[in-house]
Amino acid sequence: MTADHAQDRMLAVRNPATGAVLDHVHDHSAEQAAAMVDAAAAGFRAWRGTTPRQRSEVLMAAFHGMREQAQRLRDLIVAENGKSQADAAAEVSYAAEFFRWYAEEAVRSPGDYTEAPAGGVRNVVTRHPVGVAVLITPWNFPAAMATRKIGPALAAGCAVLLKPASETPLTAFAIAEILTEAGVPEGVVQVAASSSASRVVTAWLADDRVRKLSFTGSTGVGRRLLAHCAERVVNTSMELGGNAPFIVTSGADIDAAVDGAMLAKFRNGGQACTAANRFYIHQDVLGEFTEKFGARIAQLRVGDPASGADIGPMITEQAAQEIRGLIRRATEQGAVIAAQAVLPEGANSAFLTPTLLTGVPLDAEILSEEIFGPVAPVVAWTDLDAVIALANAAEVGLSAYVYAGKLQTAMKIAERLEAGMVGVNRGIVSDPSAPFGGVKQAGIGREGGSFGMEEFTEVQYLSVDWS
Ligand code: NAP
Repeated sequence: MTADHAQDRMLAVRNPATGAVLDHVHDHSAEQAAAMVDAAAAGFRAWRGTTPRQRSEVLMAAFHGMREQAQRLRDLIVAENGKSQADAAAEVSYAAEFFRWYAEEAVRSPGDYTEAPAGGVRNVVTRHPVGVAVLITPWNFPAAMATRKIGPALAAGCAVLLKPASETPLTAFAIAEILTEAGVPEGVVQVAASSSASRVVTAWLADDRVRKLSFTGSTGVGRRLLAHCAERVVNTSMELGGNAPFIVTSGADIDAAVDGAMLAKFRNGGQACTAANRFYIHQDVLGEFTEKFGARIAQLRVGDPASGADIGPMITEQAAQEIRGLIRRATEQGAVIAAQAVLPEGANSAFLTPTLLTGVPLDAEILSEEIFGPVAPVVAWTDLDAVIALANAAEVGLSAYVYAGKLQTAMKIAERLEAGMVGVNRGIVSDPSAPFGGVKQAGIGREGGSFGMEEFTEVQYLSVDWS
């Protein structure tokens, strides 16, 4: 296809639960993407000249705008992503909080003023917006992954070019409208959907005025983008894949651990980077844990989330198919399906039944792959050092969970885990006020808290003659 033809192309957005086309969005060509950088550069000049208080007030207005439109955003997320209504409502609330948090951070500009050790010089350290930033987001949190980047970028004074996932662009466009209504000037926040992510992103990254890439998505794509950014030494932040261990000790409160496991595994139907992927349960409590966890899994209602189901479809039939393959190969290696929910009659093949697997062999592929679906593989353990080594064996270290009777025991285990975030007697870790991110191949940098805004700034140091 030539670029000229691409000017007129539209991209269909489908409901994964029904397959119905929800809407069409413009399918951006490389030329159109390149032209967006002109508008972003002009927008950046205007936006960086606003005061921190002005930026704060615009972000606060966007926070209120999201709250006012919470129902509409929830329904959009349910329709294009397929998560449950409760998960979508929680996402909208979480996503809006990034605008409130960064409205409050925008006015707390950090800096430093020190005397050089040898004397005669003062060091003045300030922070400046990095420039036009490219933001790339995945489909699993269409609102929150966007606001977690847009909030700090705008607070810092940057203009942004957002490429949402091709499956879920509608929520991103709705958020951009809310930002415009809140007073964001033209060109400062622009969204481009595309049937070819690399077409749009390559056009953006080729422009010298683009100085930042903030990416959330898989480790594989993140690696490729890091290599791409190396060409022009573009500042990068990477929020990549996870493979979270969930450790339960013999002294843990098992009812609390099961509550946490349900949240850590089945929120968003297991399609979360922080989703518990590997359940390491102490042998002494294995029977009680799997019985209670299995009973809860069997009660999950699978179906169209628009009708109130707990677990909707996977994002695509192909994603569900890949997970079925992981389950099949695990059972061929000896794992046992200990519990399952019921699939509704006539469900399309994007639906997957929540499944508990026990007796999973340590070399099973399902323990080393990010499952990204409602499947919980369980492994028994007796030796603490050995289970910590297993937990740390993954190439990614995004999140981890630990349940132990004594807080001290849980904390001691948590400190030994190679993970950017650890839920300590909790099945969820995200909070707009806290640094979200991973170690090893789970990423570079942090989002949220005061850390998130630093990612969109450059440090400048002035060496001032004081003699
Ligand atoms: P993905 O395939 O890596 O896609 C993420 C985004 O990158 C999408 O917008 C995609 O666009 C775009 N993209 C794909 N190939 C590209 C390329 N060559 N150049 C530029 N952009 C490209 O990931 P996903 O399947 O959407 O999301 C699931 C993954 O995200 C999981 O691994 C999950 O752990 C991770 N994740 C991480 C976090 C975190 O904070 N660490 C949060 C959520 C999700 P298209 O949709 O158009 O392909």
